[in-house]
Amino acid sequence: MQTLLLLVLAVVMAGSAQASAKLYGFRMVQQENVMLHFDLDSSSATADLFMLSRPHRLVIDLPGATLATQMPSETFSQGVVQAIRYAQHGSEYLRVVLDLRRAVKPSYRFVPRQGGQRLLVDLGVKGNPSIGSANHQASQQTPLRDAVVVIDAGHGGQDPGALGQRKTREKDITLAVALKLHERLQAQTGIRSVLVRDSDVYVALRQRMNTARQAGADLFVSIHADAVERNEARGSSVYTLSIDGASSEAADLLAKSENESAALYGDIELDGMDNGLRQTILSLAQSSTMELSMEAGSDVLTELKTIGSVHKPTVEQAGFAVLKSPDVPSILVETAFISNREEEQKLKSAAYQDKLAEAMHRGITRYLQRRAPEGTHLAAQRRKRGS
Ligand SMILES: [Zn+2]
Repeated sequence: MQTLLLLVLAVVMAGSAQASAKLYGFRMVQQENVMLHFDLDSSSATADLFMLSRPHRLVIDLPGATLATQMPSETFSQGVVQAIRYAQHGSEYLRVVLDLRRAVKPSYRFVPRQGGQRLLVDLGVKGNPSIGSANHQASQQTPLRDAVVVIDAGHGGQDPGALGQRKTREKDITLAVALKLHERLQAQTGIRSVLVRDSDVYVALRQRMNTARQAGADLFVSIHADAVERNEARGSSVYTLSIDGASSEAADLLAKSENESAALYGDIELDGMDNGLRQTILSLAQSSTMELSMEAGSDVLTELKTIGSVHKPTVEQAGFAVLKSPDVPSILVETAFISNREEEQKLKSAAYQDKLAEAMHRGITRYLQRRAPEGTHLAAQRRKRGS
C-alpha cells in the first residue's frame, strides 16, 4: 500500500525543429515523499526548478520541450499540491507550475530509462497514501531510440598504458582510434556513440562503467593495444569477460596488467563487489549478457581479420575489471601489439588507425543490426525486414 498514484498524466509533445526533448509522460506519486516523474525522450534534457512565494509555487522549466495538446489544469482538495498547470513558452521551454499549500524544498535528479530519461522531483514532503484521486492515464507511446555504443579509450592521463619500443604510448593510440570509431558511428543512422574520454585524461574504471550505464549503453567497447614480453607477438585480439577467470594464460597476464592501473589508483573494488550476495546477483546478470558480448566480440574479430593478422582466431575471455558491467554487453579490443616494433609503427599511422576504426565500425554495426534491443530504430527495421 505504499505506492499510491495520485495523478498520472500523459503529455504529448509536438515535434519541433528546436525542441531537444519531448515530454511524453508525467505522474505524481505519493510514496515516502511526494514525487513527480517526468518522462523525456532525450538523454540530455535539462530542468530548471525554482520556488515562488505568496502564494507558494514550484516552477519546473523544461528547456527545449514543447507541449502540443492543451492539458487541463488539475486541482486537488488535499495534500501539499493544490493544483498543476502548464504553460508552453514557444519552442523554448515548457513550464510546469505547481500551486502549493506550503513551501517545499524540492530536489531533483535525472535517471536513465528506456528511450530517454526520467526527471524525478522530490518535493521533500511526506506523502499521504490516503490521498487518491484524479487518475488520468493516456496510452504512452515510447518513441523509438538510437542504439547506444559507449567507446572507452583505454588508459589516459597519468596512466599511459603500455609503451612501445619507440616510446609510443598506448593511451594516445587508444584515444586516436576511439575518436575515429566515434566519428563513424555517429554518422550512422540509428546509432548513437558516446565517448568515455575525448582527451588525455585519467578516468577511473568505475567511472568508465558508470558512463556506460548512464548512457544506457547497448554495447560497451574498450580499446587497448597489447604489450607482452615476447616482442614478436602480433595481431588483434578481442576479449569478453570470463566469469570463471581467464581462458588462457596470456589473457590472465593481460588482465593483470590492465587491472594494474586500477590497483594503482585505488579503484580495484567495484561497486558493491565486496558483498557476497551482490556478487552472486551480478554474476547472474553477467552470464545473461555474456552471450551477447561473445556475439559482438565475434563480429568485431571477424572484421579485424579482414584488415590484418589476429593474435587468436576466436574471441578470448579474461577477467578485465573494466568489463565487469553486469547489464551491458561489453568487449575489449586489443588492436595490435604495441610491443611489436612493426605493429607499433602501424598503430602510429593515421591510415592504419582508420582501418581499425572502420573494421570495428563494421563489426559493431553488424552486431547491432542483429541484436539491438526492442525499442530501437534498428530493431524496428529488423522487424520490417522480417528477419
Ligand atoms: Zn591497455
